This record gives sequence, structure tokens and C-alpha cells, in this order.
Amino acid sequence: MEIVKYGHPALRWKSVPITKINQQLRDYVSEMFELMYEAKGIGLAANQVALPYRFFVVNITSDPEEKDEEFVFLNPEIVKRKGVVEGEEGCLSLPEVYGQVRRSEEIVVEAFDLDGNGFEMQLKDLPARVVQHETDHLNGVLFPDHLSEGARSEIDPQLEDFLQTFRSQQSSGDLPNNEQLKQQLQELQSQQS
Ligand code: ZN
Repeated sequence: MEIVKYGHPALRWKSVPITKINQQLRDYVSEMFELMYEAKGIGLAANQVALPYRFFVVNITSDPEEKDEEFVFLNPEIVKRKGVVEGEEGCLSLPEVYGQVRRSEEIVVEAFDLDGNGFEMQLKDLPARVVQHETDHLNGVLFPDHLSEGARSEIDPQLEDFLQTFRSQQSSGDLPNNEQLKQQLQELQSQQS
């Protein structure tokens, strides 16, 4: 498992709900926490490791010692939103790229944990932003999609670099082509449906 970068079709995939909580899913979750900590991130969505499932992991402290701050959101739904606030975002699938993104200031999110128990959280500030960013990933949406035209054009050269890198990895055979990657996503998807 690895964090895939901009250009990978998984990042534009609309993921399917989790229907089975099994050991495989628990293994995915612990691997994702590890990758997230290595990359010094605070959230990581399944799409970012080429898994087409609706879940993400969060630890707002980015500190692996802070186990109490680890949260897994299975099948998350943002059910309430209030206010709008702009703030800077980055993404582990777009290293070194940042932009100002408008998000709801406060949200209520419903999800399930790894024991299959439903929970609800009222969030604001950074946790609210992270949950909105990660929920977007599950719908194939990336933070640059939210930028104004001007802000977007500033980062377009960086995005183009990612695409070129991705394509050259495909043409050198280091990565499968898009058809094969999509085929893999379809196969993984059928394991949860
Ligand atoms: Zn992201």
C-alpha cells in the first residue's frame, strides 16, 4: 500500500460504502495510519491508497503516540453545516501544493467505527475542515476543485507536473496504465458490495 499522487484514477473515483467490517478492513486502517504518520499528515482517505471504499482515518495531532486522537470514519455523512470559513489546505496526494479553500465552519458528521457502532460528531475549526476534505476524497473531489479560477491557475503548473510524472511512470512500466488501474479498483469494489 502507498499513497497515490495526483493523476491516479483512484483520486477521481466515487467510492462504495463499506458493507463488511472484517480483518482485511482493520489491516487497511492500521496501514493507512502508518502511512499517514510517515507523511506527517492529519487525515488520509481510502481513495488515496487506491481503495475504492468510503472511509478515512484522522489524527489531528499527527502524533502516533496520541492514540486517543485516532478516529476511523466508515461511511461518513455530513448531515449539518453552518457558516463558511476560508483556510489553507494541502493534501498528501498533492505534496507541496497549497490553496485557500472555503469550507463550512461547523459541521455535524455521522459515521460508523470499526466495531460497527454509529457515532455523531459536532466539529468546527481544523477537525471540521479535515472531515470535509476527506469526505470529498470519497467522492473523487480534490481541494483544487474548490479554488477560485485565479488561485487554481497559480497551482496549475504544479498539477501539470504531477500528471507528467504520473504518465511517465506509466509509460516506463513502473505503474499500470489507467485501464488496468480502473480494473483493479472495480475488482476491489466488488469485494465490498
Ligand atoms: Zn487530501
